[in-house]
Amino acid sequence: MNDMSDTRADTTKYYSPLARMLSPYVAGEQPQSGGWIKLNTNESPYPPSPRVIEAVRGAVGEDAAALRLYPDPDADALRDALSKRHGVNRENVFISNGSDETLAFMFAAFFAGLDCVTPAVGYSFYPTYALLFGAKLRLIPMADGFNAGLNVDVGGLLNANAPIIIANPNAPTTIALSRETILDMRETLAKRSQLLVVDEAYAPFHEDCAVADGCARYDNLLVVRTFSKAYALAGMRVGYAIGHSDLIDALCRVRDSFNSYPVDRVAQAAALAAAEDVETLSRTVAAISDTKITSRQALLSLGFECAHSHTNFLFARHPRVKGRILYDGLAARRILVRRFDKPGIEDYLRITIGTPDEMKRVIQALTDILKETLS
Ligand code: PMP
Repeated sequence: MNDMSDTRADTTKYYSPLARMLSPYVAGEQPQSGGWIKLNTNESPYPPSPRVIEAVRGAVGEDAAALRLYPDPDADALRDALSKRHGVNRENVFISNGSDETLAFMFAAFFAGLDCVTPAVGYSFYPTYALLFGAKLRLIPMADGFNAGLNVDVGGLLNANAPIIIANPNAPTTIALSRETILDMRETLAKRSQLLVVDEAYAPFHEDCAVADGCARYDNLLVVRTFSKAYALAGMRVGYAIGHSDLIDALCRVRDSFNSYPVDRVAQAAALAAAEDVETLSRTVAAISDTKITSRQALLSLGFECAHSHTNFLFARHPRVKGRILYDGLAARRILVRRFDKPGIEDYLRITIGTPDEMKRVIQALTDILKETLS
C-alpha cells in the first residue's frame, strides 16, 4: 500500500542546503485582473517610445525568421548605442536580462564569499543575492537628523572598510547622494583597493547625481542601470552595467558560467530603439517629474511626511495613521502601492508616480481614508 504521509512530511526534503537557506526577494504584485491603479513596482505610466513599438513589430514580423537563431550573446548593437550615450567604449558596457541580473552577476563576480556593505534601508534584493552567493553583506544603519532614518550614513559605510553597493538615488527612500559624494567615496575606496557599485536604476530622474558617464576610467567603480523605469520597458527585461573593461570581463565570466544568451532578440531590438530615442526619454521623465511635484505637495497638505524625491516614486508616511491601514484602504479602492513590513519603515507607503489622473484618484482616496480613520 502506498503511504502518502512520507511525501507530506517534509516538502523541502529534496532541497539542497543552499536552497534551504535562501531568502527569496518578494516582488511587488502583478495583478492579472484589470481595474487596478498599479503604483507598486515603479513602472512607467507611459508607453515606451513609438520607435520601440516599431522595432518589436519588426523583430516579430518581417525579421521573425531570425528568431530561429540565438541572439547576439554580447548585444553589441545595444552596447554601441549605450557606449555612445555614456561616453565610454563598447568593452565598458555589459547587457543583462533586467538590471537585477547584472546585480546578481555582480555579487557572484566581486562579493561571493567576501565582505561588503550597503545601507540598512536600500534595495531589498541585495541581501537576497548576498545569501545566494555567500557574500558577507553587512547592513549599515541610516543617519539620524534631517529625514531621520532615511539618509544614507556615508561615513558609516566608509568606516566599515569593505566594498560598497548602494542605490543612488536610493530606493525606497527616494533620496540621492550628490555626484561629488559618490566620487569621493570611490576615491576613498580606491586607496584600499575596494569596489564601489552604484545602482543607478532611478538616476534618469535626477541625472545630476549620476556617475555613469565616463565612469570607466576608474577601475573600482561599476554603475548599473535599467530600461525598466524611465525607458518604460519593464516588460522587456533589459539592464546594463558601465565600468572598466576588467570589471565588465568579470561580469561576462559569470554570465558565461550561467546563461550565454540572457537577452533575447526582441528585447535587444526594443532596448536599442529606446536607447536611440532620447526625446521620448526626456519627455517621459519631465512628465513624471511634474506629476511628482504636485503629488508630493498634495500629500504634504494632507499631513504626510514625504521627502523630496529624486526618483519616479514617493515615500510617505502619515504621523497619525499606520501604514497598514493606509495600504489596506487603498487596496480596498483597487489602488496598489508598496509597503515594506520592515522595522523603521513599516509605516511608509512607496507610491509610484502614475498619470496625473491616477494621482488625483490616489490623493482623493487618501483624503477619504484619513477622514474615516481620524474622525
Ligand atoms: N535596482 C533598484 C534600486 C530597483 O528598484 C530595481 C527595480 N525593482 C532594480 C534595480 C531592478 O530593475 P530591473 O531588474 O527591472 O532592471
